[in-house]
Amino acid sequence: TDAYIAAMEKARVLNAYVAETPDKACDMAKASDARIAAGKAGALEGLPLGIKDLYATKGVHTQACSHILDGFKPTYESTVSANLWADGAVMLGKLNMDEFAMGSSNETSHYGAVINPWRRNGSDVNLVPGGSSGGSAAAVAARLCLGATATDTGGSIRQPAAFTGTTGIKPTYGRCSRWGLVAFASSLDQAGPIARDVRDAAILLKSMASVDLKDTTSVDMPVPDYEAAIGKSVKGLRIGIPKEYRLDGMPAEIDALWQKGIDILREAGAEIVNISLPHTKYALPAYYIVAPAEASSNLARYDGVRYGLRVPGSDIVDMYENTRAAGFGAEVKRRILIGTYVLSAGYYDAYYLRAQKVRTLIKRDFETVYAEGVDAILTPATPSAAFGIGEKADADPVEMYLNDVFTVTVNMAGLPGLAVPAGLSAEGLPLGLQLIGRPFDEETLFTLGAAIE
Ligand code: GLN
Repeated sequence: TDAYIAAMEKARVLNAYVAETPDKACDMAKASDARIAAGKAGALEGLPLGIKDLYATKGVHTQACSHILDGFKPTYESTVSANLWADGAVMLGKLNMDEFAMGSSNETSHYGAVINPWRRNGSDVNLVPGGSSGGSAAAVAARLCLGATATDTGGSIRQPAAFTGTTGIKPTYGRCSRWGLVAFASSLDQAGPIARDVRDAAILLKSMASVDLKDTTSVDMPVPDYEAAIGKSVKGLRIGIPKEYRLDGMPAEIDALWQKGIDILREAGAEIVNISLPHTKYALPAYYIVAPAEASSNLARYDGVRYGLRVPGSDIVDMYENTRAAGFGAEVKRRILIGTYVLSAGYYDAYYLRAQKVRTLIKRDFETVYAEGVDAILTPATPSAAFGIGEKADADPVEMYLNDVFTVTVNMAGLPGLAVPAGLSAEGLPLGLQLIGRPFDEETLFTLGAAIE
């Protein structure tokens, strides 16, 4: 813990943490020492972790990196972080993220961009770590924590993991409790870890996952010993390669990375099968209707009365307007506007209802291939390596949304998805592959991920 606290102080330039909690960390570490001495060590005893700012942490800075939650310190702990502490883990602090988890580059944070510890060969241009869990990914990559919590609504665990050479898993919807996570899009949000390798991700997920009476969408299923899945043979596993993920204009090195993953799994004894997920092309537009719709509803609670920031006004409505105008950043406002529009009378049928129908079709695409005996699906995690800070943020927002083209389908279908580092780009940047599994079969993803890493 001392070593990580010292590393965090030295690496503040990366802006990975928005709150450091060294005193709390030392207290927790001392309590860990005592439990170890008493022979009562938990599964994560003494392991120092960073927590994404989206997780409610009792008495500690929890703002989803938004100005509107200024000063908010919850009186309760999220179930997932409580599970980690119950197993003996130590909290180092809260990690930077896109405001309310809306973004793919960590540039929408009220606390500013996070710098990816990786750079292009011979370049001093600062790159994004991906988003929205950019602080989590950068902190793990720069060794500013042993592992981190993250969340994934449309790719926010897998894309930053891919951009930083770390491993991240979005578990099946319902595997982890959402209680105490600041809500973005409730039917898509899932908690999960970003870790240094597949084994660490497996160990962390085992501790994070649980059914929870405080989240009725969490699922009562035994949580397997994920670590035991590592090192198992992949022989005979059927791996689907979806042709729709081979995008026009995809960089050759992404294609080559995908082929490398295919070759590794084939040589290890897996059976490679070509599959079709015909509704893939509709996933991104449908996601950018469903997610903002749910966000516009979830974010209605920030009214200047209940939490954080309050900007006075001549009457209460004026106060609401002033608070929301000052408290939300541009991307969050864009989502609220889109969401309110697609849910409004007259447009609901044309947009929201149709997006929900598309969502069902996407889910059925996966059900069909799994029913045909496919065990997991292999795709690239992202369409490119990490890009420069400011490079896409200043462009058309749709340009940024295109980052999520390989990841959003998984959230729409509620499936588990693992991002695992698989090589470097020509410029020396990490590139990741994505493994998509059957519902609640995270184990197969850990087995396959370990064979690739
Ligand atoms: N980049 C996507 C978005 O902005 C996904 C974010 C996430 O998974 N939290 O909505």
